[in-house]
This record gives sequence, structure tokens and C-alpha cells, in this order.
Amino acid sequence: MSQSMVQDALAGLVERNPGHIEFLQAAQEVLGSIVPVLVKRPELARDGILERLIEPDRQVIFRVGWFDDTGAIRVNRGFRVQFNNALGPYKGGLRFHSSVRLDTIKFLGFEQIFKNALTELPMGGAKGGSDFDPHGKSDGEVMRFCQSFMTELWRYIGADTDVPAGDIGVGEREIGYLFGQYKRLANVHTGVLTGKAPHWGGSLVRKEATGYGLVYFAARMLAAAGLEWDGLDTVISGSGNVALYAADKAESVGARVVAMSDSHGYVYDPQGIDFHLMRRIKEDRRDRIQAYAGERSGAEYHEGAEGIWTVPCTVALPCATENEMDEAGARALVASGCRLVAEGANMPCTPEAIRVLHENGIPFGPGKAANAGGVATSLLEMAQNSQRIHWTFDEVNSRLYGIMNRIYDQCREAAEHFGKPGDLILGANAAGFVRVARAMLAQGVV
Ligand code: GLU
Repeated sequence: MSQSMVQDALAGLVERNPGHIEFLQAAQEVLGSIVPVLVKRPELARDGILERLIEPDRQVIFRVGWFDDTGAIRVNRGFRVQFNNALGPYKGGLRFHSSVRLDTIKFLGFEQIFKNALTELPMGGAKGGSDFDPHGKSDGEVMRFCQSFMTELWRYIGADTDVPAGDIGVGEREIGYLFGQYKRLANVHTGVLTGKAPHWGGSLVRKEATGYGLVYFAARMLAAAGLEWDGLDTVISGSGNVALYAADKAESVGARVVAMSDSHGYVYDPQGIDFHLMRRIKEDRRDRIQAYAGERSGAEYHEGAEGIWTVPCTVALPCATENEMDEAGARALVASGCRLVAEGANMPCTPEAIRVLHENGIPFGPGKAANAGGVATSLLEMAQNSQRIHWTFDEVNSRLYGIMNRIYDQCREAAEHFGKPGDLILGANAAGFVRVARAMLAQGVV
């Protein structure tokens, strides 16, 4: 019965979303894993909950026209998918990258519903973005693009309605330009975006939060496997916000980060990545990771990002982008003795990679739990904005630490409760689903 309800919902989904491969992958993963929940609690599938959960509340697609530095007119496409607001105002980042399509935003928005629910904080799920790529653009071009993007988006968002933030390609610079235009149009200085710079309304620790939270979550997974961070060789894919601050925190708890990557290739540094050098190259200079190998003796650069999984390690943290670790990557990790994988990016492991890790008994932390520290700290930014106060670094960091520990506890307990101890995928999906479904049931059919 429960199995067939899931199958019916998924069959309808495939028919209505042709070509939306990543969204279908994410929905299949969630619905496929919650069958034990529906068996035990069939009331949660009442009132068309499954069908309503997989259909976004609202999807906005708009043209973004802007002038580049030569005076030529450029046109991009903007998106905001407001997926579900049963638990609070829509919340989720904006991604600016040439690969962004409606499919990308739907998959990310869907994941965001459950991730945000796991934080136990009042946030619904949404995502947005554009196929605009800030790489190689001047500050003026990025500003004009952001202003044009917000000129359309502003009417759909608000501090109690929908609060966007950053994601790939959207950091403090872009959030600043987006906020400036929102403020000009709405004539309110309010917490309508998170990820703002701390000197004008942002929260301390927001920039570091996803990476730090990932390391706190992985610490609990390591403990359950009888390990601790100290002395562990760690591979972290990516070198954006999430990867950088995961490396920073991993190093500060005694791990040795031996490899990091960007979309072109990876660096291997047997002495352990020099975080400060890497941060200067990636964050301050917006340079390629290849530069690191030129400036650090003993470090090697290898062309091709996917090769990073062949670097021997005890812990692997995929922090770059979706589907970056495939079956071959997972097999390479298993062969070199990897003992734990936790996702810093959204859905970085393919279903085949997860199957390989599972078959080999490697503990796996799904992104919607392990990387929830970023959005959780966004809610802490919203809380500070509405109270007109500013917490210290330690205050925010200790709240983040507590939230990540509670997320881990919920996942572990839900996995046990629904009959698959240690299965954090089931645990995360079950705990998130139960919370959202109960709220939707209470609020009636819409
Ligand atoms: N883009 C981040 C995520 O994937 C953060 C979202 C937010 O802070 O709203 O969770």
C-alpha cells in the first residue's frame, strides 16, 4: 500500500516533469526512502500529502537584461521556485552559474524543504538563481546584473515571505548588490536576504557555517564509528565557501586536508593544505586552484576535478556540486581505505556512488543533514535582524554546534525508529518528512 502510493506519486511526477533529471533524482531518493515511515504512520500520507509535496507552491521565471562593459546588451534567465512554506517563510539560496536550469532550481528547492525542517527552525523551502556566471565578469557587470535580477524578484520576496541567500556563485558581493536594489525598490531596510556582510547586517559565522557545521556533523559520525578527527587524512572537493571553511575547521580539529579541487582540477598537498594561502587564492583573488600548486612547495596540481577521489584518505567530504562523485569515484575511495563520506554540497553523490559506499559499509552523511549548518545560521541572521541585535562569533558558533548535534541525533533516532539503524539517508528524509507532513496536514488542503 505505502509502496504503491509512492510509486503512483513518482509515476505522476515523471510524466509532469519531462527532462527534469535532477529533480526526479532528488524526489525519487526522498520518496523511495520514506516507505518505512508510511508503513508505520499511514496517516502522514493522507490528503494527497505526497502529490502536494512534490509540486512547488509557485515557480517564477523571468528575463534579466543588462549591459556589459562594452555596452552590449546581455540576456539571462532568472528563477525562483517557492516549494513549500508549511513550516515558515520560504528560505533557500540563489545560484548563479551557467549550468542553472529550472530543473536545477527545482531539485535544490525540494531538498531545501527537508533540510530546513531538520534544523527545527521556522523555515519553508525555496531556491532560485540564474544561468548568469559571475566568473570573469567585472564588479560593474555583476552589479548591473544583480540590480536587474532584483528588479523582477523583489515583488515575490520579503522578510516574512521568502528570504533568499547565497549558493554557488552568490557570495557577500552579490548579496550586497541584490540587497542594495531591494532596499531602493521597497524602501525598507529589513532582513530580506541572508549572507550579508557582518558590517552591515549580516551574521558572524554565516560565511563559515556550512563548512563548520559539516565538520561538527561528521565528528558525530566518526564517533559512532569509533574514530575522531585528530590525525585523519581528509579529501575535500571544491574550494568555494563550503569547502574552504570545512577545510579550516577540519584542520583546527587536527585533521590533515590533503586535497581540494575546482571545476578544472585538483591539488594534492601531502603536508596538508595551507588554509590561509588557499583562502587568499580562492576568496580574495578569485583565482584558479592551480595557482596554489605554484605557490606552495611540495603541492601538485592535476587536471580533471574527478581525479580527486583517487587520493587516499580516511574521510571524504564532497563539497563542490551535484553528482560530482560517481560510482568510479566511490570505488576509488573504497579501494584506498576511506572510512567515512559526508556531503557538504547538495546531492554530490550519485545514487550509484551511494550504493557502492553502502555495500562496503562506509558511513554516509547526506547533504540535507550534513550541510544544513549554512541555512540554520541564515535563520540565526534573520533572528538577529528582527531583534536589531548582533551576536558574537562565539554565540553564533555555539548555537550552530548545538543545531548540528541535534540534527545528527534526529537522523540517528529516526533511522532506528523506522527500522534501519545507522541509515542516515532514511533518518534525514524521515525526520524532515514527518515534520513537514504534520504541518501540512494541520493547515488543510491547498
Ligand atoms: N544555499 C545554501 C543551502 O544549500 C544556504 C541557503 C540559505 O542560507 O538560505 O542550504
